[in-house]
Amino acid sequence: MTVDRRSFLAALGAGGAAVLAGAHQAAALGGGMLRTGAATSVDAWPTRARVQAHMPPDWRKLRARLGSRLVLPGDPGYPVYRLGFNELNDGHRPAAIARCASAADVQACLDVARGHGIPIAARSGGHSYLGYCIPNGGLVIDLRLMAQVRVHPDGTAEVGAGARLIEVYAALARAGRLLPAGSCPSVGVSGLTLGGGIGVLTRKYGLTCDRLAEAEVVTADARLLTASPGSEPDLYWALRGGGGGNFGVVSQFTFKTEPAPGLTVFSLGFPKGSAPAIIGAWQEWIAKAPFELWASCQVAGGNPPTPRLVGCYVGGETAANRLLDRLIAAAGVRPSSRSVQPKSYLDAMKYMAGCSNDTLAECHPVSEGGRLPRESFVAVSRMLGPRPLDAGRVTELMHGHAGVDLLLDSLGGAVSQLRPDATAFPHRSSLASAQIYASATPANRNAVTRTVDGIRDGLARLGARGAYVNYIDAGLPDWGHAYYGANLPRLKSVARRYDPDRVFAFRQNVAFA
Ligand SMILES: Cc1cc2nc3c(=O)[nH]c(=O)nc-3n(C[C@H](O)[C@H](O)[C@H](O)COP(=O)(O)OP(=O)(O)OC[C@H]3O[C@@H](n4cnc5c(N)ncnc54)[C@H](O)[C@@H]3O)c2cc1C
Repeated sequence: MTVDRRSFLAALGAGGAAVLAGAHQAAALGGGMLRTGAATSVDAWPTRARVQAHMPPDWRKLRARLGSRLVLPGDPGYPVYRLGFNELNDGHRPAAIARCASAADVQACLDVARGHGIPIAARSGGHSYLGYCIPNGGLVIDLRLMAQVRVHPDGTAEVGAGARLIEVYAALARAGRLLPAGSCPSVGVSGLTLGGGIGVLTRKYGLTCDRLAEAEVVTADARLLTASPGSEPDLYWALRGGGGGNFGVVSQFTFKTEPAPGLTVFSLGFPKGSAPAIIGAWQEWIAKAPFELWASCQVAGGNPPTPRLVGCYVGGETAANRLLDRLIAAAGVRPSSRSVQPKSYLDAMKYMAGCSNDTLAECHPVSEGGRLPRESFVAVSRMLGPRPLDAGRVTELMHGHAGVDLLLDSLGGAVSQLRPDATAFPHRSSLASAQIYASATPANRNAVTRTVDGIRDGLARLGARGAYVNYIDAGLPDWGHAYYGANLPRLKSVARRYDPDRVFAFRQNVAFA
C-alpha cells in the first residue's frame, strides 16, 4: 500500500485503532468458509515438475556450499527465517531456506532443488500478501544478504535483489539521487519492482519498473542471464510489471535514478460524512493535476466512512498549498486537520513510511534489530478509471465496515506516458489503484476476507476493473486478465520459454492464468 499503514493509523489516532479492534470482533462473529487458495500448499501446487522424481533434494550438497546459510527445520534460525511479513501465512513451513550471498549461490540452489517436485521461490522483502515467497514444503531462495546498493557517477544504481526500500532510499539519498518506489520501508525491492512499483513519486518519475535499465537473472535451468533492451528483450519486458516469481530469480537490478529535489509532504483529515464530496473532487483534481503532485485518497470504513488525503509534491510548500486549496474549494469541505511540510527526499520517504522519528536502523523489521512489527492482514485491489467512479456509491461500499480501509493511490502522470504494452504493467490509463485493506487474525480471516472481497467486487460493478499484481489476491476470479490485461498471452509465452518445466510454480504463476 502506498502511504504506510502505520502512518495511516497514527494519523487516525487512538480512535482508528479502536475502530479496528471493534471491527475484528464483529468480523470474528461472522465465521465462515476458508477462502480457497488463501494459503499455498504443496497439494494446491499445479505443476508439471510435480510429476517428476519425488526423491527430496539432497540438501547435503547445498549445505556443502552454503554451510549454516542453509537453514533446515530444526536449525536454530528456522523459526525466524521461515516467516514472512503477513502473520496470516505463518502456517507455511518451507523444507529449506537458502540464505544466498551471490548469484552463484542461487544457481547452486536450482541445481540441487529443481526436478524434485518441490516448489521453489525467491524471497526478497517477504511481503507477498499470500506468502508465495515461503512455499510450504518448498525451498526459499532468500536474497536478504544481497542488499548492496552502488550508485554510479552516471546516476545508474545497482541494487542487490534482497535490499529493502529503506536501504535503497538511504543509499540513493547519500548520493543526492532518487528512485520512485513504494512506501513501506521493509518491502523488498524485488517484489515491488517486478510487479510495477507504485509510490509517492510515481506520477512524476514513473513506476519503479519503468526505471529498470537491466536485471541479472538466474533462470530455472540455473543460467545467469542479463535482461536489458539489448539482451533477452522479452524477459526484460516481462520483468517490468509481470509479477514476482514468474520468470526466474533476479539477483541484481540496475535502475536509472534522478537527482533528488526538495519535496513537500502533506496530510489532510476531513470530517466524517464528507467522503462522497472528497472522493468525487479528488478524482477530478488528480486527473488534471501536474505530474509533480501525488495524492492518496483514503477512506476509513464506518458509519459514515471518513476520508483523508495524504501525499507528496515535488516542489515547494507554497505551490503544494495552492493545489490543496483547489481541491478543498472543489469539494466544498473544510479539512479538520492540515499538515504541509517541506522535507528532503529521505525524510519524505521516512515520513510516508511512518518512520519519521526513527533512525535508519530502527526503520527495519524487529527480526533485523529494528522497530517495525509484522502485520496480520487481508488486502485486495481493483484499478480505478480512466473514468471517475460514482463517489456516493464508492462511499456506500465502505459504509458499516469499521476497520476496513480503502486506499486510492494515484497513478496517471508519467505512468500514463507509456503504452499499456510498453512494459508488462498494463494499467497505464488507470487513475489509481484501489486497495481494500483490513487487519485480520486467523480466527476472523474468513469473515474479513468476505468483507474486503465484497468491496472489491462492488468496485468492479461500478467500473473498476483490473487489479494490481503486487496486491496479490487468491480470491480474485479473473486474476490473469485483471493483473495483466492484454499483456497476458505474451507473459505466458515468456514464462513458458524461460521456465518450461514450471520450476517456479505457485498458484498464481502467470503460466497458470
Ligand atoms: C506493508 C506493505 C506496504 C506495501 N506498500 C506498497 C507500495 O507502496 N507500493 C507498491 O507498489 N506495493 C506495495 N506493497 C506491495 C508489495 O509491492 C508486494 O507485496 C511485493 O510483492 C513485495 O515484495 P517483497 O520483495 O517484499 O516480497 P517477497 O514476498 O519477497 O516477493 C514477492 C513475490 O516476488 C517473488 N520474488 C521475490 N524476490 C524475487 C526475485 N529476486 N526474483 C524473482 N522473484 C522474486 C517472490 O517469490 C514472491 O512471489 C506493500 C506491501 C506491504 C505488505
